[in-house]
Amino acid sequence: MAAMIVDRKDEKIIHLIRPDVQTMQASHVPPGRGMIKLDARENPYAWPAYLRGEWLEEMQGVAMNRYPDPESTDLKARLRQVFNIPHGMELMLGNGSDELIQIISLAMRGAGRKVLAAVPTFARFKMISAYAGMEFVGVPLDKKDFGLDMAAMLAAIEQHQPAVTYLASPNNPTGNTYSQKEIGQLLDSTHGLVVVDESYFGFSGESMMSQLEQHDNLLVMRSLSKMGLAGLRLGYLVGSPRWINQIDNLRLPYNINVLTQFTAEFALNYYDVFEEQIEQVRRDRIWVAESIRRIKGVEVFPSETNFIMFRVAPGRGNEIDATLKQKGILLRNLGDDSPLLRDCLRVTIGKPSENVAFISALTSSV
Ligand SMILES: *Cc1c(COP(=O)(O)O)cnc(C)c1O
Repeated sequence: MAAMIVDRKDEKIIHLIRPDVQTMQASHVPPGRGMIKLDARENPYAWPAYLRGEWLEEMQGVAMNRYPDPESTDLKARLRQVFNIPHGMELMLGNGSDELIQIISLAMRGAGRKVLAAVPTFARFKMISAYAGMEFVGVPLDKKDFGLDMAAMLAAIEQHQPAVTYLASPNNPTGNTYSQKEIGQLLDSTHGLVVVDESYFGFSGESMMSQLEQHDNLLVMRSLSKMGLAGLRLGYLVGSPRWINQIDNLRLPYNINVLTQFTAEFALNYYDVFEEQIEQVRRDRIWVAESIRRIKGVEVFPSETNFIMFRVAPGRGNEIDATLKQKGILLRNLGDDSPLLRDCLRVTIGKPSENVAFISALTSSV
């Protein structure tokens, strides 16, 4: 009897849930309890005690019974100030840049509309294109230095006429930045939007923000996640009001809750604290890269982010990843993500003691 009910429910599911959705799998986050967690590109540093105290104190004034300001007016003003958003450009906020990618896709979807990106890159671009029912075109990066393969990109843009092109610069998981000249060429070659994802701008110092005036089809997307507020979920999108106001029509009015608005604004008043943490991570990145480079048989790739990608001996990626896990160190294994990333692993820069533990474990595992 029970089985019959289940069967009937399944029939309904099969009938009603979109067929493409039925074949999807929710993304899996490995459990990190008790591990040295260097897999998720997080800032390893907690807030200093004085900041935490002041934050808790001030949070008592937050009106939890009221709806949030749908325009996040005060927070936007703070963001404009701290990140030098050009005058005349519009700003839109998302529950993480995840949500911004989702809203862009919803705004652009339509028969035959495609999304293009240089791959391997942030998996969410492809995933969210699928959610929106848009075809995703991945153009492989140059396999030597993971730079843009400009001939292939231009040909793909010509062939597919993408509605949106995503360029993460610096790119995840490769860690490198694309040249502004090449991004400019792509902007000039497409009739679609180009979203430059600058999630790691704090670590690279490079930005297309100053190019917004010259390119009407450019949007710059950033996130506060990598600077140290991953738990807060706040991303922002900057571009011409002509574009942003259209895309903003699809944003749910209360997508940025009162705690996020309050906390992000509070944190940005102390941006220097986060800048110091970013500087520390940049310094430690040099040490980690040098230490990996000294290990025989391991190739390390240049990074302008808070992580480093490296390649171990052919065929040994999975085994070394498993050994490190046994030793309590969690990395991201990239080997199955792309043919370009065979035997590649990605390590996030942690606290100095975590970095030392990682280097020691890797040295004895290769
Ligand atoms: C981490 C990351 C993001 C950030 O996403 P959030 O949803 O804001 O946490 C976006 N793009 C890239 C390339 C990333 O690596």
